[in-house]
Amino acid sequence: LEPHQKELWGQPIGLYVLFLTEMWERFSYYGMRALLVLYMTTSTLGDDARGAGLGWTSKEALALYGWYTMLVYVMSIPGGMIADKFIGQKKAVLYGAIILCMGHGVLILTDIWAFYTGLGLVILGVGLLKPNISTMVGGLYAEGDIRRDKGFSIFYIGINTGSLLATMIIGGVVAKWGWHAGFGLAGIVMVLGLINYVFGQKYLDKVGDFVPSTNDENEVSYGKLYSNLLTSPKQLLIVGILLLASIYGWYKLEWGFGLLFIFLTAIAALLIMIYKELDSQIFKDRFLVLLLSFIMVIIFWGAFEQAGGLMNLYTDTKTNRVLLGWEIPTVMFQSLNAGFIIIFATIVAGFWAKRKLKGKEASSLFKMALGIIIMGFGFLFMVFAAMEFESSGTSSMIWLVLAYLFHTIGELCLSPVALSFITKLAPVKYASLIMGVYFASSGLGNKVAGLIGESASNYGEYSVFSGILIFTVLIGTIFILLLKPLKRLTHAAEDNEQ
Ligand code: GLN
Repeated sequence: LEPHQKELWGQPIGLYVLFLTEMWERFSYYGMRALLVLYMTTSTLGDDARGAGLGWTSKEALALYGWYTMLVYVMSIPGGMIADKFIGQKKAVLYGAIILCMGHGVLILTDIWAFYTGLGLVILGVGLLKPNISTMVGGLYAEGDIRRDKGFSIFYIGINTGSLLATMIIGGVVAKWGWHAGFGLAGIVMVLGLINYVFGQKYLDKVGDFVPSTNDENEVSYGKLYSNLLTSPKQLLIVGILLLASIYGWYKLEWGFGLLFIFLTAIAALLIMIYKELDSQIFKDRFLVLLLSFIMVIIFWGAFEQAGGLMNLYTDTKTNRVLLGWEIPTVMFQSLNAGFIIIFATIVAGFWAKRKLKGKEASSLFKMALGIIIMGFGFLFMVFAAMEFESSGTSSMIWLVLAYLFHTIGELCLSPVALSFITKLAPVKYASLIMGVYFASSGLGNKVAGLIGESASNYGEYSVFSGILIFTVLIGTIFILLLKPLKRLTHAAEDNEQ
């Protein structure tokens, strides 16, 4: 056997190379993310050993944080396009990792230009790395290979091991050696990820290689797709309406939203034209069902990402965190999600595999819809928490633990499953682009989460948590009711897996 055909624990060894690369990348991403708002809001004089911060108000800091966490994922679209069109996923991941090392490296410096440059580089680096490494995981398996879903679950454990280690270690490093040591640690860890990726190449033979264009007449280029738009009246009308809505949004909201809407319109135009050009009804239908499933993705992350915002503040100010005489720090609750993932990922994946073997419903669309419902039910516990707070002035931390448990089980039904689903259904030529659109949808979800979280100051937590509960359970149920026609659109992509 060639190295790239060898197996370890029932999976190709390449999976573990990608697992470790992504683990270190996520360590650096989540480690830095955990520091960001705190660093921005610390005074320029520096209150303690952590040293000087930027002295911003929390409103300013949260605004930048919201844009940053969204942009990181929205940049997956150009990141995916660059891989599809020019260099392939394998190189895109390499360049992304190098840019990330530079970005985290620059953040070691204390100047404000370094701060912005560093964030900009991290946005570019994640955009190149994140969608493409995920597509590469799919590239390890042939069509119909039953190991694929399990492989994505294992990969997902890597993601969360990185996140868990980061959130547990980086706070301590910063407390002792200051902010920039924390940023530096993220950088060092990213260098580990890069080294691991470079040395693991022999296990990734033929995975994520660039497929050069054949230069034939029928080859579609993005430029050509856009120019085709001009001769397609129906499509042009749809894009025109989207554009007008964007411009209206530009006037009504802040300019950042205007730019975002225009960008999204450009992407929508591209997707519409790709749909039109796809050469068989099977590909068209599969493309459509993927895009429809991304509605679930936006809603899922819009609710789920309350974790870092509203639920985090709730933990801080309205929860009794004392256990056996010790007050558990608020940030530690952020590790619950990653911890639960590591415990439950293989259990959930195994559960679905068993159901499938027994011939029971276990399609990706079903799992995703169920994931939304289970995650939504997590908010029931937050509603109980808000009720307890209203009647007694504090609330028990058990509600948070249960909420995060349900959120995590829901995430495991949706997120790794969606990654795997995309690699099964997307046309190879556009695989990375679609993965990019998936991550961008989750980025939009992040932004939506921030907007919902802000609204809590007007409506109160009780109403916001109940609203999310009702809305998510409803949407999940609608998708389950629509399962039959939606599954028809996949053209049995998942029926012959073995
Ligand atoms: N927590 C997951 C990760 O970091 C999912 C992120 C997402 O899809 N937005 O990979």
